[in-house]
Amino acid sequence: TVEVRGLTKEFGDRAVLRELDLDIAPGEFVALLGRSGSGKSTLLKVLAGLDTAVTGEFTVDGQVSVAFQQPRLLPWRRVWRNVVLGLHPVVGRDVALKALDEVRLADHADAWPRTLSGGEAQRVSLARALVREPELLLLDEPFGALDALTRMAMHRLVETLWQQHKPAVLLVTHDVDEALLLADRVLVLDEGRIASEYILGHPRPRELSDHIDVRAQVLR
Ligand code: ATP
Ligand code: MG
Repeated sequence: TVEVRGLTKEFGDRAVLRELDLDIAPGEFVALLGRSGSGKSTLLKVLAGLDTAVTGEFTVDGQVSVAFQQPRLLPWRRVWRNVVLGLHPVVGRDVALKALDEVRLADHADAWPRTLSGGEAQRVSLARALVREPELLLLDEPFGALDALTRMAMHRLVETLWQQHKPAVLLVTHDVDEALLLADRVLVLDEGRIASEYILGHPRPRELSDHIDVRAQVLR
């Protein structure tokens, strides 16, 4: 689904991504960790085709959905319209309501985006990414602004949807436990490249306790 070779991205004379290589197979769930400022969001924007000023090669096959770190909702469209924005007109309110229900926001369907909390806006953004049933789902810290309980509910939701549709997922997160819980493979971005990789070949559902050793390595 994703094949990246020697990808370099510079801002001015500073290279944020340096000769980065990355492969993601269809249906694979990959988590991407890395320090703040290491280039995770930049990589997602490049893969989403939103930043083309790069050198190197990459291919991304199929329909791609992105949920950004800062949700981008159209302020003049109600929440449910934002969810199905750009889709075929036949895909209407019912589809939007179902997706909003999945992210526990059915009661906000007719609200205006500016009235949402940060975590609510993130979940609308997630609903919008999910209704497209993409082959590749790019998630940039989608649960960062959520309380622990809602975050756990969203983990279950993402796990369920992944089991149903098996999109490839690239999930950027600062939460090592979230990465270990959800992903098949955990990558760490450092110095502009994938500096380390941990493969978690355990069956699902995941138990964090199975990965105590990996956790210790990632946090080393
Ligand atoms: P965080 O975990 O804080 O979200 P990140 O790993 O997602 O960080 P990026 O947003 O990819 O980091 O940014 C990587 C680096 O590139 C940062 O130093 C940032 O300042 C720089 N950068 C990002 N976008 C631009 C831009 N449009 N112009 C100049 N520099 C940029
Ligand atoms: Mg970021």
